Amino acid sequence: MATEPRRKIVAGNWKMNKTVPEALALVRELRGMVSVLRDKVEIVLAPPFVALHPVAKAIEDSNLKLAAQNCHWEASGAFTGEVSAPMLKELGCSYVILGHSERRQFFGETDETVNKRAQAVLKAGLLPILCVGETLAEREAGRTLEVVERQVKGGLAGFGAGDVAQFVLAYEPVWAIGTGRTATTAQAQEVHAAIRAQLGRLYDGGTAEQVRIQYGGSVKPDNAAELLGQKDVDGALVGGASLKAGDFAAIVKAG
Ligand code: PGA
Repeated sequence: MATEPRRKIVAGNWKMNKTVPEALALVRELRGMVSVLRDKVEIVLAPPFVALHPVAKAIEDSNLKLAAQNCHWEASGAFTGEVSAPMLKELGCSYVILGHSERRQFFGETDETVNKRAQAVLKAGLLPILCVGETLAEREAGRTLEVVERQVKGGLAGFGAGDVAQFVLAYEPVWAIGTGRTATTAQAQEVHAAIRAQLGRLYDGGTAEQVRIQYGGSVKPDNAAELLGQKDVDGALVGGASLKAGDFAAIVKAG
């Protein structure tokens, strides 16, 4: 069975940046720049929680989609400080970033908690952007594929092929995040291909072909085209460069 080509997806992870007025100014600038690209690339913005509602309103009639940067696995209850997937769905989110290395590193996320969050996300009618990636020490020890495959397997545990086909995965080598040090296109392609092969083993070839795998880690306008031109690189998860409209739009255009 012939499968549809995978549509590229470029997401801006704003992390803990932009007040509401700043977020709205960035969206205003971006809208003008990316409106011409209506269907070629799926464009996703992930502002901090407090800016989700205003940004949702500001992109209502546009081709931009909204993502949250995390969520809890319970739908509601006594979990002070947490935000649930149904709340995000109601706000107009389409995606939730899960298992970002900063969450794994600083907030104790494990493959198990990432998996629980992914279940909640799908149950709420949202789609996960599930991040995986090795540290510098792990790469230097030759453990890159072992680590990434463990994170993929753990994050996807319990899901059937139909669910997994809807996931977006993001390969983000930790040593490339916010460092200005990008993986070479060969390094990125190698890991992306390994993840796709793993999906083929865990599920089936058709599912593996459907899953979109973004690259993340110091993606900039000047390296985006080369990275996004790799066979198994289906988009980018962009941190720092997503905070400037011109840079983010240039990366989208490279897709
Ligand atoms: P960066 O961040 O583009 O600033 O390296 C990427 C990410 O953490 O998603």
